[in-house]
Amino acid sequence: MEKSIIIIGAGIAGLSAGCYAQMNGYNTHIFEMDTKPGGVCTAWKRKGYTIDGCIHWLVGSGPASNFYHIWEELGIIKNHTFIDHDEYLRIIGKEGKYFALYSDPDRLEKHMKELAPEDSGVIEDFIKGIRKGIGFDMPSDKAPELYNPFDVVKMLFQMLPYMGYMRKWSKLSAGEFASRFKNSFMREALLAIAEDVPDLPMLALVMPMAWVYQKTAGYPLGGSLEFSRTIEKRYLDLGGEVSYKSPVAKVMVENDRAVGIRLADGTEHHGDIIISAADGHTTIFDMLEGKYINDKIQGYYDNLALFPPLVFVAFGVNRTFDELPHSVSGFNLPLDEPITIAGKELSRLTLHVYNFDSSLAPEGKTVIRVMISTVFDYWDELYKDPERYKAEKERIADQVIAQLSKHFPGLAEQVEMRDVATPVTWVRYTGNWRGSYEGWMMGAESFRMRMSKTLPGLENFYMVGQWVEPGGGLPPAAMSGRNVTQIICKKDKKPFITTRP
Ligand SMILES: Cc1cc2nc3c(=O)[nH]c(=O)nc-3n(C[C@H](O)[C@H](O)[C@H](O)COP(=O)(O)OP(=O)(O)OC[C@H]3O[C@@H](n4cnc5c(N)ncnc54)[C@H](O)[C@@H]3O)c2cc1C
Repeated sequence: MEKSIIIIGAGIAGLSAGCYAQMNGYNTHIFEMDTKPGGVCTAWKRKGYTIDGCIHWLVGSGPASNFYHIWEELGIIKNHTFIDHDEYLRIIGKEGKYFALYSDPDRLEKHMKELAPEDSGVIEDFIKGIRKGIGFDMPSDKAPELYNPFDVVKMLFQMLPYMGYMRKWSKLSAGEFASRFKNSFMREALLAIAEDVPDLPMLALVMPMAWVYQKTAGYPLGGSLEFSRTIEKRYLDLGGEVSYKSPVAKVMVENDRAVGIRLADGTEHHGDIIISAADGHTTIFDMLEGKYINDKIQGYYDNLALFPPLVFVAFGVNRTFDELPHSVSGFNLPLDEPITIAGKELSRLTLHVYNFDSSLAPEGKTVIRVMISTVFDYWDELYKDPERYKAEKERIADQVIAQLSKHFPGLAEQVEMRDVATPVTWVRYTGNWRGSYEGWMMGAESFRMRMSKTLPGLENFYMVGQWVEPGGGLPPAAMSGRNVTQIICKKDKKPFITTRP
């Protein structure tokens, strides 16, 4: 009889693990605490508008990327239309001046040199970095945990021409790079890009710019929930089972072997293998009561930086924004008057305009959205006082509309729907630790870090998803579900098989 696998969480990692395990003949059952699939890769409806909670870009949407085959296997490529934007981000200055990170490096170079002729050397270096990234990709077919010496040599051989490139751009932070510009507007614009992550390695900017140029980081029309539902369908078509509204309270362990799960309502389910695709902190410290940990893992949770939690302000607006270009990350705008949230004064906001996806709003109308990084403890405390929590959300929505109206006259009167989500919202719906929306921050330290998918001393148990893939993101989440299935197959002495719908 085939082995049974219980998977905790129907986010992209859990669904992916389920799909690949089903492809390989395991009987799987996913238990998800929410009412729908996707985890943070989700969307919600308000007054006829769909507020998208996730995807700006999907790395691997085009065949130039090594992730493409994973999205094919999960049914994404066959079922989605992708659009590739002309711009990554536009930073607006004063008096109509702007810096647009164009997807086309030729156009970007020309534009940057027009803005800052005195910095042509730094600009050429940057463009060279993007161009060099065009040939570069990470192998994604075999789980690194299963590499044999031959695989290591093969990978090193493939990487060799890029070693210097990787070293150079991963050592250089966005903050340091900005300081190389003599031109003050360019310096400020680059600092605005890296506002939340000044030690963000520049590799995390030049490589994605190369992906955007190669049209392999597109946006799936229909948005994040449709995307997640496609993988859920693939999973169900492969014979998988999923139970929603089923929060897992404990991983049951006998003689240091995971043997099942206990739901919050007390029901128990047994499996030969347990995979947690849920939040890492909850898994390790609550479901397993901190019994299977070592100093290294404890160190992650004590010391590593997290992606900041978000205040997410969305509006449904009775107007089109046809005059604005389509952009991956939107428009970074200066504010006339700063807005203070959780003690942090904001002088700029990044506005995402969904003028490229008409399915998210009634005809002639548009969803716009502002993502603001914030402080978890402030919101956690405020949430205990429902009146003040609600009032604070209203104040923020009012102030954001007032400021946006200065850039888009008449906007305040055209707003038909407003919705504010906070870090507490993310915790309530996805369980992510301290509201971090993407797990461990992509920083100089975590950039090359590889985390184990197993816990010390615990058999038959694995972890997948953004809490074991530093930097997070949809491709690593999907890949970790694929990789863990390879590891399980190898242990069971079975060949690893993939299929396409
Ligand atoms: C605003 C935003 C924008 C983003 N933009 C992009 C982008 O453009 N491109 C990109 O690649 N990535 C993006 N990401 C990141 C990406 O969405 C995530 O890294 C990825 O989806 C994480 O998937 P996951 O399965 O690891 O985790 P999650 O999505 O957190 O899934 C975990 C699942 O486990 C469930 N769960 C938790 N606890 C329990 C429990 N006790 N019992 C049962 N179920 C439980 C949760 O409800 C959830 O469904 C973005 C994320 C956000 C929030």
